[in-house]
Amino acid sequence: RQNIKQNVIMASAVRDILPCRSPAAHKGMNGRLAVVAGSRGLSGAAAMTAEGALRAGAGLVTLAAPASLQDILAVKLTEVMTKPLPETATGGISQEAVPDIAGLSAASDVLAIGPGLGRHEETAAAVRAVIAAADCPLVIDADALNALVGYTDILSECNALPVLTPHPGEMARLTGLSSQAVNADRINIARQAAAEWGSIVVLKGARTVVAFPDGEVYINTTGNAGMATGGTGDALTGIIAGLIAQGLSSHDAAVAGVYIHGLAGDVAAQAGMVGMTATDLIKAVPAALYGIKS
Ligand code: AMP
Ligand code: MG
Repeated sequence: RQNIKQNVIMASAVRDILPCRSPAAHKGMNGRLAVVAGSRGLSGAAAMTAEGALRAGAGLVTLAAPASLQDILAVKLTEVMTKPLPETATGGISQEAVPDIAGLSAASDVLAIGPGLGRHEETAAAVRAVIAAADCPLVIDADALNALVGYTDILSECNALPVLTPHPGEMARLTGLSSQAVNADRINIARQAAAEWGSIVVLKGARTVVAFPDGEVYINTTGNAGMATGGTGDALTGIIAGLIAQGLSSHDAAVAGVYIHGLAGDVAAQAGMVGMTATDLIKAVPAALYGIKS
């Protein structure tokens, strides 16, 4: 039996990890972040990922999404730059988008991919090509995780340790287990997956587990049941990527990101837990960051 470090994420540790904003900062110092997300009917997931990144302090955020969503996203997101991508007849990104996204990754400090991409097979193949070709650290969520079912060996082609953020249902598909089986042994299953895939695995749900390939594990205690509503996971993807954009290692960004995300949920729940939305959580991220730092 291995002697493995199992930690609870402490506020003091997150305070030490978080970047201090220099009084002389300019936006270029806070990182360039790219989001690849969205498909017809799922523009909100893309928007919330980008907003989560901005609220976590990212300097410049570009959202690459299917071209037909361009106008709606440009109206929705004032501060975010948008990049229209070639799309399939069903309104998801197509294979022709891969070179565009690879180029974007070369100009970015981090790329978050997955929310709302849809499950069209051509989109899934494009996602796998992007994961293999990307030039920067990756945060992989939602339909980008679904695209990896049966293809987790591609993760070994990433040049930086990728962060994967499955909820128990996504983890079940990736491992071939049932969600009940995943939830019955969350720590061990996250730890085994991290080792097998050579990735950081953030297994979401109440008491999110963050596992690393060497067996190190963190358990998060912030957050509440008000977060069991659509879009909160997309916000987490943006927050973790936003921290990487500001210079945190993927390791530190995953640990601090889940803590801040839960704390923002707790701040938002002060106005009422039931009925809070992912947008409420996203808007509470700056207050959560301030609370940790002060
Ligand atoms: P997703 O299922 O991808 O939308 O992600 C949901 C997010 O909300 C994850 O970060 C979960 O950890 C969080 N969440 C959902 N339900 C709870 C809960 N009961 N307690 C704490 N966090 C939760
Ligand atoms: Mg999700």
